Amino acid sequence: MKNAWLYEFWRLSKYIIPALFLGWIFEAQNLFLFIALILFIAHQFKQFSKVYKWLGHSLDSDIEVNGMWEELVYRIYRKRKRSRNRKKNLSNMLRRFQDSVSMMPDAAIVLDAENNILWLNPSAKQILFLSSNDIGNNIGNLIRLPSFVNFLKRSEDGEAFEMNSPWDEKQSWDCRLMPYGDGQRLLLIRNITQVQRLKVMRQEFVANVSHELRTPLTVIMGYLETLQDVDDLSVEEIKQQLSKISAPTQRMNQIVADLLLLSRLDLNVSTGLTECPWLDMQVMLLMLKKDGEQLSQGKHKITLINKNITKVKAIESEIYSAISNLISNAIRYSPDGGEIVIETFLDKNGYRISVSDHGLGIAVQHISRLTERFYRVDAGRSREVGGTGLGLAIVNQILRRHDATLEIKSEIGKGSTFSCLFPLSRIQSTESTK
Ligand code: ADP
Repeated sequence: MKNAWLYEFWRLSKYIIPALFLGWIFEAQNLFLFIALILFIAHQFKQFSKVYKWLGHSLDSDIEVNGMWEELVYRIYRKRKRSRNRKKNLSNMLRRFQDSVSMMPDAAIVLDAENNILWLNPSAKQILFLSSNDIGNNIGNLIRLPSFVNFLKRSEDGEAFEMNSPWDEKQSWDCRLMPYGDGQRLLLIRNITQVQRLKVMRQEFVANVSHELRTPLTVIMGYLETLQDVDDLSVEEIKQQLSKISAPTQRMNQIVADLLLLSRLDLNVSTGLTECPWLDMQVMLLMLKKDGEQLSQGKHKITLINKNITKVKAIESEIYSAISNLISNAIRYSPDGGEIVIETFLDKNGYRISVSDHGLGIAVQHISRLTERFYRVDAGRSREVGGTGLGLAIVNQILRRHDATLEIKSEIGKGSTFSCLFPLSRIQSTESTK
């Protein structure tokens, strides 16, 4: 800065010294001094106008000034650069924030103090069926539920408020209101339908397990009390009482075993199975047919139709358990003398193993629920034939782990067909698929 002032003095003297000299020669010192000062001021004006123009242009545009003007330009340049960087950082931050809020699966809406919409993210458009045209409108006029309007009146404490979607009663929302910026509020709405459903499923599951275990337990306790109360039972009578305990004990054991298997399958159902050996289906199906015949004890005719020489990429014990479950159901829910057919098909849609029976059949309203845990068409009959209500849930989980699906076709009084459908990616066949 000091140099800048010195430079200006030097420049002023460049005007004054010649003026003094000329004034001395022409004996008109005042006039020449006046002219020199006018020229100096004109020069300063020129510099000033350059700086003024430069301020209107971009920061990196060129400017040629000197002396104190150069120093001034340098200081302004530094300040402008710092503020430009700050602005850049700020807008980057804002963009990053808006990007992340836009990617959020939850609806985010910025409201002013009167609940007018200032900004909304794409999820808000999806969940609340809003559009950019709604910006400026009052949210209370768009979602007209009194409970929601009351919620908007509350202070923005971030406390959760649960409500059903005004457009679909089955959809549940979790709403929160938080202070945001200057007198504004951020409204967050999350779709919690899935979470609620899982909560209900968990409660139902616990209730079902308790109920299923309590029934055989009550029977066991009944027999044990009888044994305790009566003193003079013969060994034969004690043996008889104890044998009655055996069936409910086995039943409880079977329920616990099925539950453990299900929880093991649940643990890694989402990861799927890629590293599996190739399983020879011909060998396995013959074994399954034999097991079925043993279970039926000659009461049913079991036929195997397997024209395809196929290998499936799968875990042997799991696929065995799934198909054996279907065969066992076909036997248990078919009258004596009925025919059960195990058949395979291979085409461009994949590989299908189906188990058909001519048994009771299932009414259409039950079919979509059969793979639910503990779901039974006729609970009494299922218990009678030793069912736990978990068999098809296990089959379904095993198939999901193998990228396969369970297809159920049934007609009351005519019979049922349960089919396992494997994708071609899990199949190795010597025949070409048509
Ligand atoms: P369960 O142990 O009771 O057999 P599952 O999960 O294997 O349980 O089957 C669920 C219900 O589906 C059964 O209770 C039964 O009502 C019905 N079901 C399953 N397979 C058949 C079938 N082949 N024929 C008729 N009903 C069946």
